[in-house]
Amino acid sequence: MLNLQAITKNFFLFLSNNKTLDRLAKQYGTRFGVDKLVGGETFSQAVPVIRQLNDEGLVVTVDHLGEFVDSEEEAKERAGEAVETVQTMFDHNLACEMSVKLTSLGLDISRELVIRNMERILDKAQELGITLQIDMEDSGRCQATIDVFKELRAKYPNVGLVIQSYLYRSDRDLDELDKYDPYVRLVKGAYKEPGTVAFQDKDMVDKNLKQLVKKHMLNGNYTAVGSHDEEVINFTKELAREHGISKDRFEFQMLYGMRNKLQHDLAKEGYTVRVYMPYGMEWYGYYMRRLAERPANIAFAVKGIFSR
Ligand code: FAD
Repeated sequence: MLNLQAITKNFFLFLSNNKTLDRLAKQYGTRFGVDKLVGGETFSQAVPVIRQLNDEGLVVTVDHLGEFVDSEEEAKERAGEAVETVQTMFDHNLACEMSVKLTSLGLDISRELVIRNMERILDKAQELGITLQIDMEDSGRCQATIDVFKELRAKYPNVGLVIQSYLYRSDRDLDELDKYDPYVRLVKGAYKEPGTVAFQDKDMVDKNLKQLVKKHMLNGNYTAVGSHDEEVINFTKELAREHGISKDRFEFQMLYGMRNKLQHDLAKEGYTVRVYMPYGMEWYGYYMRRLAERPANIAFAVKGIFSR
């Protein structure tokens, strides 16, 4: 029998890589309900939205949308913008971290370039007491991302990274990373990956996420659980209670615009809840991946089209 959910997911993941549609999306601006999932087209537009979330008891991590930069010039420009953004965060006294995708800073061009760009941002962020978390992209870039993280972590305490539970390798990666006392965001994984590297069965992905959360928390490392899945969230709370792990040793992270009530409820219970807020013009790939995860978000898109 055809699995409609799998077909829809694959369709949107396919669209997320379509460069022509990406160009058209930029041309026609943020329509289609995108503002429900994106903080603004510029960081200045996102500042009042972050302030509002901070006032509601939520902390934030921002992601300047855009990936797969293939020119050295553009990668350097992106690093310069990130330095300015970190300074603006500090000037506005926002409770905010920064998430970065290494492909936007030159990972596909050269290791030296991406390290140099990250060092520029991390120097400023460290001076201002701000943390950076490296997002994890597709599996072909996983090892390179981990290698860059290790090199940077040796010098900077304020850098973390993401590990995805759909990858078979992640359990070993966490073991290997343990000696770096890393701040890790554990997520299920958002890219289309083959069965040679990733679990295809959702139950296995879910089960592995819980195992990774358990391992990382019991290793005594600060853990960010990046999930909207209440089963995973309740598992984490129970684990912490059972092992006497205090609330300042872990946090929940959720995407901007997703499960708002749950975000607020957890914050009221005294947990740290960090909202991952993307901003920028390059919203197309991000938006398509979110539609792939949750076709119900299409309702936002339909509303956006008809409310023009
Ligand atoms: P799912 O299995 O998708 O959802 C679990 C359940 O949550 C659903 O069954 C539903 O009941 C409920 N639910 C989900 N969304 C909603 C909603 N909008 N309204 C109501 N109920 C809902 N992936 C990467 O590959 N690399 C990254 O660096 C990365 N960073 C991330 C950062 C954060 C903060 C988060 C939250 C996710 C990140 N992801 C990243 C995406 C992640 O890998 C998953 O694709 C995404 O989070 C969906 O998985 P889930 O754990 O939320 O559970």
